Amino acid sequence: MLLTGTVVVDAETVLDDGAVVVDGDEIEAVGPAADVVDRYPEHARRAFDVVCPGFVQTHVHSVQSPGRGLADDTDLFEWLDDHILPIEAGMTADELALASTLSYVELLAHGTTCCVDHLSVAHSERAFEAAGEMGIRGVLGKVLMDRNAPEGLREDTEVALAESERLIQRYHGAFDDRLRYAVTPRFTPTCSESCLRGARELTDRYDGVRIHTHASEHASVIDDVTEERGMGDVEWLHEVGLTGEDVVLAHVILTDERERELLAQTGTHVTYCPSSNMKVGAGIAPIVDYLDRGINVALGNDGAPANNTLDPLAEMRQATLLQKVAHENPRTLPAETVFRMATRNGARAAGFDRVGRLEAGWKADLVGLRTDTSRGVPLHDVHSYLVYAATGSDVVFAMVDGRVVVEDGDVTTVRTDEVYRRAREAFEGRSWGDG
Ligand SMILES: [Zn+2]
Repeated sequence: MLLTGTVVVDAETVLDDGAVVVDGDEIEAVGPAADVVDRYPEHARRAFDVVCPGFVQTHVHSVQSPGRGLADDTDLFEWLDDHILPIEAGMTADELALASTLSYVELLAHGTTCCVDHLSVAHSERAFEAAGEMGIRGVLGKVLMDRNAPEGLREDTEVALAESERLIQRYHGAFDDRLRYAVTPRFTPTCSESCLRGARELTDRYDGVRIHTHASEHASVIDDVTEERGMGDVEWLHEVGLTGEDVVLAHVILTDERERELLAQTGTHVTYCPSSNMKVGAGIAPIVDYLDRGINVALGNDGAPANNTLDPLAEMRQATLLQKVAHENPRTLPAETVFRMATRNGARAAGFDRVGRLEAGWKADLVGLRTDTSRGVPLHDVHSYLVYAATGSDVVFAMVDGRVVVEDGDVTTVRTDEVYRRAREAFEGRSWGDG
């Protein structure tokens, strides 16, 4: 396939009249259309207004889509204990498959081609199967909770780690290495020291497995960890081995100087989730300071009940606006920086080497967008358009690993009307118990 349009190679480079050639699962060539098009006369031609790398979100909860709109305007622990955990505990395997499918539809249709996905305690294989069939790239993991968790979610430590290992053996590298595994402790309050140390030990036994957890999201977490361990949340994670180049930490809002140094020294990745942080009133992560220290910062929508959309373009906009407010400085986080966070930085955090920019030899993960809308005219600067003006509805096409997964704005790998009908039937009016 040969795609033409304004080609956004990455945060630095734009080809106004460019072309991208895809062969199999890889990009074969990228360049000015005048140089490229004639060399590939046999390739099917597709023209888009904008072609750019697929967006990468390094903190989502695909299983939480049934809770969208059920837990608004509450603080974090009420949100979690009264709403989200009962849903996760009460979900059947079929419901979890449907919930994840619904999230993958939303992610793909809005241009997210790769996600790091925090699943639930049970039925994780159903999310892997859904992601595999639907064509999204991802690093998924079953959640570990061996204490301070409700009935239905709390597991014996050894059972939880053994189930994680079984899933690693089955799915890490599955679907042509499009899916990989992240060992996924929920967060330190729900995981014993042996669970956290076991997570590191398990990860080290398999090449390329990642660790994904929440960190320093809320003052009450810091208070609890400090009382129990005598240190902050990131410091405690470091103490038990859960920092490093294979670790992706979500939120990371409340950190002190020593913890920030630890994040930088260990190469730990941070996922900034501005909409979620604003919605639960958690605070503003010190993203500019992290970037200044060389910490790799990516973006995430978090789960549907915490946002309440999984639109990567909306998240880019929130990401910069919130930092401009925090710093009272409109120059903070320019569009190019945010675009890099949502593409290449995300792929680095997820551990995919050749994802996140359009370059020959890299994976064919890309999206096509329209600009023939009131938001897209006039188009002076395409990074500005993508970060400040466009929404996920402007995505008309997406490809992952060279496979077309979105056409005319709709996901092609599943019947979306059927997914919506089944999700309405299953989740509207569903009672999840009191947790
Ligand atoms: Zn989360």
